[in-house]
Amino acid sequence: MKYIDQIEMKGKKVFLRVDFNVPIKEGKVTSDNRVRAHIPTINYALEKGAKIIIASHLGRPKGKRVEEMSLGPVAPILSGLIQQEVVFVDDCVGEKVTQAISKMKNGDVILLENLRFHPGEDKNDAAFAKELASLCDIYIDDAFAVSHRAAASNSAITDYVKTCAAGFLLKNEIEYFQKALINPARPLAAIIGGAKVADKIGLLENLIEKVDKLLIGGGMSYTFLKAQGINVGKSLCEEDMLDTARKIMQKAKEKNVQFILRVDAVIAKTASADAEVKVCDIKNIPEDWMGLDIGPATIALFSDALKDVKTIVWNGPVGMFELAPFSKGTFALAKIIADSGAISIIGGGDTETAIRQAGLNTKMSYISTGGGAFLELLEGKTLPGIAALDKC
Ligand code: AMP
Repeated sequence: MKYIDQIEMKGKKVFLRVDFNVPIKEGKVTSDNRVRAHIPTINYALEKGAKIIIASHLGRPKGKRVEEMSLGPVAPILSGLIQQEVVFVDDCVGEKVTQAISKMKNGDVILLENLRFHPGEDKNDAAFAKELASLCDIYIDDAFAVSHRAAASNSAITDYVKTCAAGFLLKNEIEYFQKALINPARPLAAIIGGAKVADKIGLLENLIEKVDKLLIGGGMSYTFLKAQGINVGKSLCEEDMLDTARKIMQKAKEKNVQFILRVDAVIAKTASADAEVKVCDIKNIPEDWMGLDIGPATIALFSDALKDVKTIVWNGPVGMFELAPFSKGTFALAKIIADSGAISIIGGGDTETAIRQAGLNTKMSYISTGGGAFLELLEGKTLPGIAALDKC
């Protein structure tokens, strides 16, 4: 796979696939984080004198025009960030688009309308991909967040372009993933939390093969505890996953992976912000109480386990951090990671939200921009959006 800095772009029409899937309320963009994430790639192409044609999805319009999902409101945001005019075209293929492109000068920027207004996008349709490809000389993919799904604009399109490469955001994602799981500085620890084991089996099975330590928190930890015969009261527990949990723990033993489960819990009778809460040893959860956060003994245990590690991968909050009484564990863990001096690679929307709420987002080595894509990489899968870049 080539990267953007390995190709000549001067005077070339560059089709840049980004993820501008920003939140929009009443026609206004409420967070420009996703636009900012692509600025290094866009500025680089500008410096090199390319004609930049930017394309993205927004929301799930399911193959038809949905006004609230127009990328129109993103054009002024992008324009402000790169300090130059951005021409918005209200389609992504067809006459209007080819006309606008024919007027472009080197260093001009066009933003196309939502790719998903066309049914061919999500279907990875060859004819639609060919139309998109016909707009450009070079294809650059920078949209990591959608690379786990094959769409016309990130998969089939590379069948029809001569030159393609990854932008800097995608490059960063790939390089940090390599630092996390391919050539990590060791010891390597993964911390996995979140609600359910069922959602993360693939990930756990793959991580067991790679990590030195696996720390488990969150709702999913109760299934592992129950599998060891511990009574977890009303805590989240997936009875149908008990066998899977046992197998994962057995595998950890065989592979000499330290499998570290929480030892205490912040418990309540209901998952509500005004509930009465107590801290208890994990073996003493009363029948009608549930565990909703890790307690101080687990925070100390995790802190200790992370003292000597050189790389940390974290996905999934270790408690129901959305409610203040159950947020301390996740925030404390974020602080431990921030202060650890280890390379820290974070993924998943909830985990990122928690880290931002703790004000520690700038203290992490890397926060992945792809929720599902990040998880699939951790599961060891080949992502179609990345594999497509090998074709040209
Ligand atoms: P996931 O998307 O699987 O990473 O799950 C994230 C969700 O798990 C967050 O919304 C948390 O509130 C939730 N969660 C974490 N710990 C618990 C717990 N002990 N009980 C119930 N839900 C939890």
